Amino acid sequence: MAGNTPRVGVLALQGAFREHVQALERLGTTAIEVRTPAELAGLDGLMLPGGESTTMDLLLDSSGLREPITAVVADGLPVFGTCAGLILLATDLEDGTEGQRTLRALDVTALRNGYGRQVASFEAAVELTGDDTPMVGIFIRAPRITRVGEGVEVLASIGDEPVAVRSGSIMAATFHPELAHDDRLHARFLERVTTHS
Ligand code: GLN
Repeated sequence: MAGNTPRVGVLALQGAFREHVQALERLGTTAIEVRTPAELAGLDGLMLPGGESTTMDLLLDSSGLREPITAVVADGLPVFGTCAGLILLATDLEDGTEGQRTLRALDVTALRNGYGRQVASFEAAVELTGDDTPMVGIFIRAPRITRVGEGVEVLASIGDEPVAVRSGSIMAATFHPELAHDDRLHARFLERVTTHS
């Protein structure tokens, strides 16, 4: 890390990026909205927000960000994807649109719109591993994690169903922690960010 304050990028092509910027700032980091490859320089971490993964897939190409993001993720930069961001990270995708690609960085299978297309949104109590106090999970046309690869740790669940996971420097959640004003998962991500580099 260059200075004392971590610099965390938030992919800002589309979707719920402003709320992540606010959460990161509440936690004392410098949040950088990322729309161009140049804005990836010097980051200590990167957030991939919720939104619409098919649109983000297209915008990753038109912005020129697909390759540089693939490279920084492969290089071990801590990354946290929420909802559509989880879809972007998943190695395997079910019910994607024709030709929809992912970065294939996190060994899970994501089922897009896994609670049904018509279930627009719901809230549920999410249990955090190692924390007795559940958090409110806001799910918006959320994906489901239908397979968790070897070495992928479950960070949060609803009953038996994993809803947040971590593998190495990559974290992902099927819901929107940035909308619930509960920053515990962001704080866990930042632990990674501050020990990186
Ligand atoms: N259903 C969206 C998708 O497929 C994800 C929704 C969200 O990010 N809130 O990308």
